[in-house]
Amino acid sequence: MIITRPIYVYELRDKEHMPPKIKVSKHSLALFASAAIVVAAMSVSLALTKSSDTIVSGSTLEKNFDHVILISVDGLRPEAILPPLVQHHPALQQLAQGAWTAQARCDPDISITLPNHVDMITGRLVAGEHGHGWSDNKDPPSRTMGGTLHLKPGHYISSVFDVAHDAGLQTALVVGKWKFVLFEQSYGEDAGGPDDVAPNYGKDKIDCFVCAPKSMEQAQQLSAFIQSASDRKKKTFTFLHLALPDFVGHASGWDLSEGSAYRQALLGIDAALGAILSKINDSPNLKGRVAIVLTADHGGGVPLISHRDPEAPVNFTIPFVVWCGVNQTPVDLYTINTTSRHCPAANERFTANQLPPIRNADAGNACLMLLGLPAIPGSVVNARQDLVISVPAQK
Ligand SMILES: [Zn+2]
Repeated sequence: MIITRPIYVYELRDKEHMPPKIKVSKHSLALFASAAIVVAAMSVSLALTKSSDTIVSGSTLEKNFDHVILISVDGLRPEAILPPLVQHHPALQQLAQGAWTAQARCDPDISITLPNHVDMITGRLVAGEHGHGWSDNKDPPSRTMGGTLHLKPGHYISSVFDVAHDAGLQTALVVGKWKFVLFEQSYGEDAGGPDDVAPNYGKDKIDCFVCAPKSMEQAQQLSAFIQSASDRKKKTFTFLHLALPDFVGHASGWDLSEGSAYRQALLGIDAALGAILSKINDSPNLKGRVAIVLTADHGGGVPLISHRDPEAPVNFTIPFVVWCGVNQTPVDLYTINTTSRHCPAANERFTANQLPPIRNADAGNACLMLLGLPAIPGSVVNARQDLVISVPAQK
C-alpha cells in the first residue's frame, strides 16, 4: 500500500474562484498511529431572541460575529474546565471567561462519537419523530452505498453547514477521525441540497474538508482558513473535531490522576486551543469578531476504557462553553437560561423538570445565532435559538 502524506486544504471558494477541493485520503491516516483530535470551541457572545438580523443579549443589543468555530473535543470530561485541573489548561481557562457549564449532556440515548456529532450539526437527537436516526459509529459506507444522513430518514436532513453556506459564508470541517467523511458525503456537491436563497452558492456546503490526526496541525489549518477568509472579507463557520482525549481514553482509560496519559492528552489539546486563541487575539481583523462554542460528544470511563454506557454519568456529562472574545462576564449558562433549560443533578441523565438540559445538540443553532443566521431547518434542539449565551458586557 502506498501511503502519502495528507494534503491539507485551506484555499477558499467563492463564486468567482473555485479551486478544486483536495481531500485527505483515508490511507494517509495510517501514518499517524496516535491521532489527536481536539474538539470544538465555539464562541458566542450574545444572547438572543430569534431574529434574522439581530441578537439581543440580556438587555443590550450586540453585534453578530463574523466567524464562529464549533469545537468538539472527543471524550472531553468536564473536569478539564473545573478546578483544580483547569489551572493547567490556560486556553480552556480563557474560554471559560465566557458562558459555560460543566453539566451539559450528550444525546439522551447514546454516548458514542458519530451520532453525537450529527446531533451537533443538525440540531436533532438520534431518536424520536424528528431524530436524524444515525446511530452507527463506524466509518460510513460510500455515498452511493447509503453513506449519507438523508437516506435512512428518506428526506433531506439539513445541517448548520447548509444555513451558513447558503448565506455566503465560507465553511470548513477539520476533523481527527475519518468517519466524519459522513458529513462530507452528506453535504458535498453530490448529496448537498439546493441553495434556494439567492445568490446561489451551490450544493457543496463544505468548502474545505481536512482530516488530520494532530491537534496542533489542525489548529494551524483552521486558523489559516479563517485568516484567509477574513483577509478576503469573508465570514466563516468552521467545525473542529479534536480526537486525542478519546484515543488516549480508549488506550489507557479516562484517568484524571496526575501524570496519566489522559491528563497529557488534555495538555495537548489545550495547547492547540491556545494556538487558535493566540491567532484570534493577535489578529486585528479577527479580535472581537470570532466566537467559539466548545463542547464534547461524550465523556468516558464506563466500561473502563470505553464510553458505551449511556446511563453512566461520566459518559453523559460534558462541558458546553461559549466564548465571545472580549469583555465577557464569566457566567454559568444555566443561571442565564432558567426559563428554557434546567440543570440536572450531577448523576441525572434526564432532568425531571419539563425543561431540557443543555446538550451538545444545542451547539449548531447557537453558532448560527452568533452569526446572525436563522436556525437549521427541521432542527428541534435550540430551534428557537433561545439559548442565552452572554450577559451584558462589563463596563
Ligand atoms: Zn471513543
